[in-house]
Amino acid sequence: MNKILAVVAHPDDETILCGGTLALLARAGAAVHILCATRGEGGELGEPPLCAREDLGRVREQEMRCAVDALGGVSVEFLNYIDPAVGENEELHPYTDDFDELTQRLRDHIQQLCPDAVITHGSNGEYGHAAHVLTHRAVVAAVEHAALYTFSPSFPEHPRPRLANADDHADLILDISTAFEQKVAAAYCHRTQNALFVRRSSKRAGRQLSIPEVLMKVEGLHRVIGLLDDRLVDVLETFRLKVAG
Ligand SMILES: [Zn+2]
Repeated sequence: MNKILAVVAHPDDETILCGGTLALLARAGAAVHILCATRGEGGELGEPPLCAREDLGRVREQEMRCAVDALGGVSVEFLNYIDPAVGENEELHPYTDDFDELTQRLRDHIQQLCPDAVITHGSNGEYGHAAHVLTHRAVVAAVEHAALYTFSPSFPEHPRPRLANADDHADLILDISTAFEQKVAAAYCHRTQNALFVRRSSKRAGRQLSIPEVLMKVEGLHRVIGLLDDRLVDVLETFRLKVAG
């Protein structure tokens, strides 16, 4: 069986940025494992708040386990870094200054799991999130034998351009509509973040949008090194969208 490891900075990144892809891979027979650097302790509490600040990490861990179940994943582990609170002017911070230690911990985890492929944040941290960029760089430094892909690359029809990594071209653009219900269920698992998911898009649309309305039905992958197993590529190819140009 193929093993896929998705490495993300915060609970919910796995769903919002590559949930459909992970669900399709799981359905294709891959064992999908998730490694999350933090428990999202610095994130939102929900509207209205669903827990106290000091309980948020514990709550978000459970939310993430619910989401990964919905996506068909087999395990969730945490590196136990603490997610710093969002700054007063919405600045987003990395969760550690010790790049070498993070890389070593990732390397140890990857060596133990032996995944065929690793999927992680893009080189621009999607919208420039410092914790996403840090995770990307450390994973790139840590992966030695597995194939390595990044999610949310840029492509002309990207459904959420703000989430696209400008410097990563898409090698694969996937129509994830057959896994969309699983992605929606996973997004609802992240209850503390549900208001956040729709806020920016609702503001832009001038009306309150629902979670299914804001989730991407098309996802992409950028290949950094190596290749997925042929059989998984064949499965993903069946969902490939034709790229214009
Ligand atoms: Zn994140």
